[in-house]
Amino acid sequence: MDRFLAGVLVDSWGTSSANFTRLLLRSFALGAPGLPRDGMSALPQQLASTLADVRLNTAVRSVHPSTTGDGSHTVTTDGGTITGRAVVIASDPASAAHLAGLPPTPMKGLVTWWFNAPQAPDHRPLLVVDGRHGPDDGPPGPVWNAAVVTAAAPSYATGGRVLIQATTLLDRPDGDSDERTVRAHLGDIYQCATGDWEVVVRHRIPRALPASPPPLHHHQPARVAPGLYVCGDHRDTASIQGALVSGERVAGQVLADVGAPQ
Ligand SMILES: Cc1cc2nc3c(=O)[nH]c(=O)nc-3n(C[C@H](O)[C@H](O)[C@H](O)COP(=O)(O)OP(=O)(O)OC[C@H]3O[C@@H](n4cnc5c(N)ncnc54)[C@H](O)[C@@H]3O)c2cc1C
Repeated sequence: MDRFLAGVLVDSWGTSSANFTRLLLRSFALGAPGLPRDGMSALPQQLASTLADVRLNTAVRSVHPSTTGDGSHTVTTDGGTITGRAVVIASDPASAAHLAGLPPTPMKGLVTWWFNAPQAPDHRPLLVVDGRHGPDDGPPGPVWNAAVVTAAAPSYATGGRVLIQATTLLDRPDGDSDERTVRAHLGDIYQCATGDWEVVVRHRIPRALPASPPPLHHHQPARVAPGLYVCGDHRDTASIQGALVSGERVAGQVLADVGAPQ
């Protein structure tokens, strides 16, 4: 169980809040883990589909109180400036800290290797962890979990190929292991040859997830200044669920502040 949780929490040293870990376990026990058929972008696309005016690929550079002094803010973007009486920053923690002047959020990192293989080493839709003992209470190689992703989401590959992921953790000295080492560990885990697997991409994400040390401070305030709001996983629990809950909390606060019916 520790190996599984280490991958989910992006924390191989057990430094995360026990309360947060229990919340996660509750979700796994009551729900069924899954992947959107059309990829993770299906989630933001679904959220955006009901919005009137969405401008993509337009970075926000700064957010400042307007000179009018009425609590509105001026947002400077690569596409011009926008002024609003309610401005919501829904970015990653580092950008939110920069834009809203918040303290930095400690983050945890991982590397995901994606392989395209001619055959599945395992046809079950399972996350595989190596339960054997290696250095420092970790597995005997750099991979903390792996999965034949197409066994759970067949639409993630075409032409009969299979997609396999392997995750290493950047809080470990072997988190940046090279391809040969990762391949060797995967071959050991799945008990198969991996020589004909092609690397599709290696995602190195140093700021993958906000740290959740005890005591757990979720339910961060929605409003950080009059007319300025911040939401995201760093304002609730470090998860998609936390990001959604935080977003809903901010939406309720904005509606209340501007006097709109909820
Ligand atoms: C490899 C990996 C696997 C994960 N797996 C899971 C999982 O299985 N289940 C789960 O619950 N969570 C998972 N997570 C965590 C989950 O992805 C995050 O908790 C969630 O995406 C946070 O949502 P968010 O809306 O707070 O922020 P984000 O999803 O980070 O969205 C913030 C957005 O703000 C944009 N942005 C940032 N700065 C600016 C700027 N200056 N101007 C304009 N836009 C800006 C970014 O481009 C981004 O689109 C995983 C994370 C990683 C890295």
